[in-house]
Amino acid sequence: MKARPSFPARLGDSVTSGTPVVTRPKPQTLVSTTPKKTPTVQASPVSMGLGLDSGAVRAQMVAKLAAQGVQDPFVLQAMGWVERHRFVETALAAQAYEDTSLPIGFGQTISKPNVVARMIELLREGAEGKLGRILEIGTGCGYQAAVLSRVATEVYSIERLRGLHEKAKKNLLHCRLPNVHLLFGDGMLGFAKGAPYAGIISAAGGDDVPQAWLDQLAVGGRLVAPTATAGGQQALVVIHKTKDGIERRVLEPVHFVPLKSGIA
Ligand code: SAH
Repeated sequence: MKARPSFPARLGDSVTSGTPVVTRPKPQTLVSTTPKKTPTVQASPVSMGLGLDSGAVRAQMVAKLAAQGVQDPFVLQAMGWVERHRFVETALAAQAYEDTSLPIGFGQTISKPNVVARMIELLREGAEGKLGRILEIGTGCGYQAAVLSRVATEVYSIERLRGLHEKAKKNLLHCRLPNVHLLFGDGMLGFAKGAPYAGIISAAGGDDVPQAWLDQLAVGGRLVAPTATAGGQQALVVIHKTKDGIERRVLEPVHFVPLKSGIA
């Protein structure tokens, strides 16, 4: 009998009945041993090639996010680091740093920077350094996964659309983020092999938060997800799992693409 693969298991690229498949080549250790630096807003070392000074434009975007109330220095630093224009079509690159959602193909959208920052700040509430292991549902173009990689030690991100999973892999190549693991599968099932998670964040909204996510959340962990409200709208829901149970807060209304089951 073959020895059990060490976590995270590498199962290759094949599609298997909705079970998430890890396609990031290198298994990583689960605990960061890198000493933590005080975050400062800095431009990515990767050059632009678009003729616009993306570092300066991102710094402006970060200043706007701060003015809108985002305070977590890790979040601001991460938003200033990731080159959002690289995750959208070239024709949309000029709009990449505006506070607007943008199409990413396959009928899906990348959230506004403000919404990404807000959700990650909620996910990190109470955390002092980097968060531990995070699960993201809805990789999309990979932008938010890149932001998460700067505020958490490990990021597992699941996408149910093969085309977007592949696109995110390409988009993330230039970032060289060894702590991001892209999975192809149905995120409604979570990813039990990576559990428990310090945080779970969904970029797609369902009728309710799937039980698998609650089960896979660590005690002390937080879950942030757009969820349907009684009035048929969507609102951000934050769940804090404590040793005494689940605390649930319903926050502002939001508009996210639907959370769907199965793969396509
Ligand atoms: N975080 C993304 C946003 C993508 S939009 C980014 O930065 O680009 C939300 C994504 O959730 C879509 O790509 C959609 O296909 C995906 N999605 C919806 N239901 C899902 C599910 N059950 N499992 C995994 N991904 C899902």
